[in-house]
Amino acid sequence: MSEYVSALMEQVKAKNPAEPEFHQAVQEVAESLALVLDRHPEYRSARILERIIEPERVIMFRVPWMDDRGEAQINRGFRIEMNSAIGPYKGGLRFHPSVNLGILKFLAFEQVFKNSLTTLPMGGGKGGSDFNPKGKSDNEVMRFCQSFMSELFRHIGPNTDVPAGDIGVGGREVGFLFGQYKRLANEFTGVLTGKGLNWGGSLIRPEATGYGAVYFAAEMLATKHDSLDGKMCLVSGSGNVAQYTCEKLIELGAKPLTLSDSGGHILDEEGIDREKLAFVMDLKNVRRGRISEYAEQFPTAVYTVADGSLDHNPLWSHSADCAFPSATQNEINANDAKSMLENGVKAVSEGANMPTDAAGVELFLDAGILFGPGKAANAGGVATSGLEMSQNSLRMNWPREEVDGHLRRIMKDVHSACVAASERFDRKGNYVDGANIAGFLKVADAMMDQGVV
Ligand code: NDP
Repeated sequence: MSEYVSALMEQVKAKNPAEPEFHQAVQEVAESLALVLDRHPEYRSARILERIIEPERVIMFRVPWMDDRGEAQINRGFRIEMNSAIGPYKGGLRFHPSVNLGILKFLAFEQVFKNSLTTLPMGGGKGGSDFNPKGKSDNEVMRFCQSFMSELFRHIGPNTDVPAGDIGVGGREVGFLFGQYKRLANEFTGVLTGKGLNWGGSLIRPEATGYGAVYFAAEMLATKHDSLDGKMCLVSGSGNVAQYTCEKLIELGAKPLTLSDSGGHILDEEGIDREKLAFVMDLKNVRRGRISEYAEQFPTAVYTVADGSLDHNPLWSHSADCAFPSATQNEINANDAKSMLENGVKAVSEGANMPTDAAGVELFLDAGILFGPGKAANAGGVATSGLEMSQNSLRMNWPREEVDGHLRRIMKDVHSACVAASERFDRKGNYVDGANIAGFLKVADAMMDQGVV
């Protein structure tokens, strides 16, 4: 680690104690940028990176709500408005019991670089709550969302801050949140993305993150004159990103073998086909059941219960060509990365945010496999949110093919931007450095133009 990076990290840790995910995300970016800052002392003297690390605004608030038994419940709500140098704050809301300030700051920080890579004018933000939607009735989720928005609405707006979904926030939650915003603000605007199709949503938005992660993998493979056709793929998670990753993999002739949730994972050696995927979508999006039911429905599959006491995640021990981690942060550690390399994985495209820990990333990079970091590989979701904002401003709806065409082009451009930046700074083949550098330069230049604000 360079002297500059270690001094910076010391400050970050002292100023933001007990936020390990935030430290991890900042350190990775700082290491990538060390050479850029050496070659461009103007960024260092304007303290651009130091400013990017400090959120422009952090909002924390109480979210009280009544459960179905008539008992009062209290959760904590957050919105991190990280950086608005290139556009309004943009980034999802996560509802999960693990949510805390440090996790949301890491996600908001990553979002700044990701949004910059999409080529669209969007700043970075993230928010959410430690509320757990699992096991709650629709009415409880509605009451929670209404209470959450009763505070959040005063901080957001179509030209200020535009939230979207993330873990635990899908179409149902966005609907309840939008309804309450509209009621309080007395206006119908594109203040949230991921909306329903008949009230301002965009075609392809639900599919976009998963499709985008697959398009990114296809671009990486094309640099080696290879394609996804016939590839065996490991996919983790079974939510929005995992489902549409599987859908696009099947369409491109690849074979998804695994899916998971926090209870465990299934391995289907015959492959998850369209019919089995339809079962998963109904199971997860309608019946809100557990992935273990897949193995009860399809005898070709084996279910393995998650075991937190293990030093690895057995999902990553199966033989495959490609991997699409699509559940959550730090789900691949060094042991997992090692077994993936031993079992033939040649390409990893991160649908989730920071699913590989720092030691795992190092192993992938040292092995020289194609490794697409989340801030590039999963940028398709927020990019399509940007397209939803454009359609809302124009008061138009583009057809499916048009949005998918934009998504494909954007993922191609994100890939090219990573390659170009990595080559310009002598890091050819390193998509981590490429994404961090390309994302940084656009934001840094805008911040230089706008003065010390
Ligand atoms: P969903 O809530 O739809 O699905 C999340 C999936 O991951 C579920 O299967 C869930 O299982 C599993 N999961 C979540 N947390 C854990 C955990 N701690 N341990 C084990 N499994 C877990 O979320 P998304 O698919 O939207 O998001 C998945 C990832 O993709 C996240 O990292 C998110 O930040 C990222 N992402 C999402 C985007 C989007 O457009 N939705 C855009 C860009 C990135 P269970 O139900 O049991 O909790």
